Amino acid sequence: MTNISNPAEIEKLRKDFPILGQKIYNNDLIYFDNGATTQKPQQVIDTIVEYYTTYNSNVHRGVHFLSQRATDAEEHARRTVQRFINAQSPDEIIFTKGTTDSINLLAFSFGELAIQEGDEIIISRMEHHANIVPWQECARRHKAVLKVVDFDEEGVLDMEQYAGMITDRTRMVALTWVSNTLGTINPVADIISIAHSHNVPVMLDAAQAVQHMRVDVQQLDVDFLVFSGHKIYGPTGIGVLYGKRKWLEQMPPYQTGGSMIKTVQVDTTTYGDIPFRFEAGTPHIEGIIGLGAAIEYVERAGIEAIAAYEHDLITYAKEQLGKIGRVKVLGASRPKAGALSLVIEGIHPFDAGELLDKKGIAVRTGHHCCQPIMDYYGIPGTLRISFALYNTKAEVDILARTLERVIGMLV
Ligand code: PLP
Repeated sequence: MTNISNPAEIEKLRKDFPILGQKIYNNDLIYFDNGATTQKPQQVIDTIVEYYTTYNSNVHRGVHFLSQRATDAEEHARRTVQRFINAQSPDEIIFTKGTTDSINLLAFSFGELAIQEGDEIIISRMEHHANIVPWQECARRHKAVLKVVDFDEEGVLDMEQYAGMITDRTRMVALTWVSNTLGTINPVADIISIAHSHNVPVMLDAAQAVQHMRVDVQQLDVDFLVFSGHKIYGPTGIGVLYGKRKWLEQMPPYQTGGSMIKTVQVDTTTYGDIPFRFEAGTPHIEGIIGLGAAIEYVERAGIEAIAAYEHDLITYAKEQLGKIGRVKVLGASRPKAGALSLVIEGIHPFDAGELLDKKGIAVRTGHHCCQPIMDYYGIPGTLRISFALYNTKAEVDILARTLERVIGMLV
């Protein structure tokens, strides 16, 4: 296992990411927009190239060599995901287009299975829009009620309100593990145990968790968990819905067509078993295989080592950026994962972000698909710094120095 707490190892590991060697406006690229998408290591790129150059073929259909090889690679990737999140069976791993697609699948299929007029779904005010809108639509379709857990000034969920919100009509709790905007790490074990004490299933949006910390779905006893490949060093267009077998086997399909059936006659169809029942049509084969390679890459670095390294880095960044005049780090008193959101007094985040870009520093500005968070703080947006295993304290120092100068130019 690569010991990534050793800075020399990080320098070595950075070479795996060809894009990081680039100059942007004659500056070394400093990429702090990892919450939006991470860069890809050469190992992932090579895996995809190898697929297209040596065994490109459709899966689960052909008797020929290439098709069998592609099918083996796809199912190997499914087992890799299963191992990584410690699911009981590869059948519980559904490949989707990404977190958004996974949540839409769940909100549709679980809604069909279990949500009726007057039932309740619980989300929070810190969710990404991807974990709000599908549940709004689900509630509208089934005449259910959407209940929303608040958070405080420090970006901490109101757990008392949450615990008091669950009733015998609650059918689903769908919450984010880590906020993509605030970096808040929610107390997922408590969230799950409270919901389960009322026999309510829980879905965790792990889009900003799986790349930063150990995820063990069996230990958590979580019912559903979703994430995107492109935020964990894998390709775009691929994601995962984990679901406990007992739920998936009851849920009706979301999309229908080829690959998800057992038998079809022109007037009637029987559906296939999980996971294929939820994977209609030709899958994103290169994406699945690439995601498997990305997870193997993370496993080699070691997810615990990544978590420790990033924790140190984000704590350092919080201190350094918080020292700059006019800069406020939202929820600074709390432990963070993945991202920090800055509000700069008197300066629009977009203006600061544009000037940082001219120095080769990529950050994100805006509402980060979390408009309810912006409404809570009464701001148009934040400047978000988000981290990956290849970021360094030296990069944080350059960011802090440059941001200080940028603020000086804008006031
Ligand atoms: N949920 C969270 C917490 C996110 O950060 C994101 C993306 O930023 C999403 C959901 C949506 O992910 P995707 O766009 O990959 O579907």
